[in-house]
Amino acid sequence: MHPEWGPLLAVRTGWALDADVRFRGSSGGVLSALMIHLLESGQVQFVAHVAASAHDPLRSERRISRNRAEVLTGAGSRYAPAAAAVALETLFASGERFAFVGKPCDVAALRAYVQQRPQLQPQLVLAASFMCAGVPSQHGTNEVLAALGSVAGEVVHFQYRGNGWPGYATARTRDGNEARMDYNRSWGQLLGPRLQLRCKLCPDGTGEFADLVCADAWYGKDGYPDFDEQDGRSLLITRTPRGESLVLAAMAAQAVVALAAEADDISGMQPYQVTRKRVVLGRWLAVGLRTGVWPRFRGLHLRAALWRGGVMPALRNAWGTFKRVGRVGV
Ligand SMILES: Cc1cc2nc3c(=O)[nH]c(=O)nc-3n(C[C@H](O)[C@H](O)[C@H](O)COP(=O)(O)OP(=O)(O)OC[C@H]3O[C@@H](n4cnc5c(N)ncnc54)[C@H](O)[C@@H]3O)c2cc1C
Repeated sequence: MHPEWGPLLAVRTGWALDADVRFRGSSGGVLSALMIHLLESGQVQFVAHVAASAHDPLRSERRISRNRAEVLTGAGSRYAPAAAAVALETLFASGERFAFVGKPCDVAALRAYVQQRPQLQPQLVLAASFMCAGVPSQHGTNEVLAALGSVAGEVVHFQYRGNGWPGYATARTRDGNEARMDYNRSWGQLLGPRLQLRCKLCPDGTGEFADLVCADAWYGKDGYPDFDEQDGRSLLITRTPRGESLVLAAMAAQAVVALAAEADDISGMQPYQVTRKRVVLGRWLAVGLRTGVWPRFRGLHLRAALWRGGVMPALRNAWGTFKRVGRVGV
């Protein structure tokens, strides 16, 4: 149990060995490759994950995928609200075995649901997640679209990332025109500033309740992650024996390649996640003082993370949140 990264069985970096999956994935396509492996090896009957809405390419919705092609429709991150954990009872209704991919909060909801209904546990073969800096509001998507010069009603395909690493935010219109922008601009300038307040208060950005977690295994440049386009590379953390045995089996089946890394390597690839975990208790202190709401977070080692980061950064964050919550409420 690591105070910043949660339960760790193994830390690796890697990518999908199928070049198409690696290319289409957000990072190294590892999540999609693992889901395809689970389907094709008969361990699950379907995968529940998120993809662009079938009715509106600017929206995102939960999708049930039963083969490689369907899994790949969901490859790539959707940086907008997406209710992956909606109507959980429908996932269990058929009695089939499945794997679930969602944000850390989606997985936490799923775990809580199954914990109250232990008879459902055998159907949930794997819960996978990814590190999550937070979800930008749908306005962020509208801003990306406007900056691309595209009109909502005309767009037939919209993706935030993928098709390269980190890949481009891309809008294709009915007449076949395509406009795109790089990740520095889409995430750095338009989507990132639209993160919802609840996400800034989230105590679990790294999927501590999942069997395994993927993230961008950014290479460093001048002390910062390097967002220049290159071949995709995922960070892959296994948290449970189930997650670990899937990864070993997928490596043996040549679905993914993965190289050993150390827990100490993670902060260089994910500096934002370290900072947030260290200061989030300070932010909640401010919310508690403002609103009288004091949630309990068990097993996330937030105090240990705060001490590792130091009291001053947490207090600075508490003050910032105190002012902000006063303005907007929670
Ligand atoms: C809102 C958001 C914030 C993120 N923040 C970080 C971060 O701080 N650090 C980091 O390293 N990575 C972050 N990522 C994840 C990162 O972009 C990659 O998705 C991750 O590295 C997995 O890459 P992959 O190539 O293995 O996955 P892929 O093979 O591309 O598969 C991605 C999977 O994620 C699912 N998915 C995509 N969007 C959503 C969504 N909105 N809700 C639920 N499921 C979804 C898809 O259905 C698909 O199954 C974030 C992603 C999102 C959606």
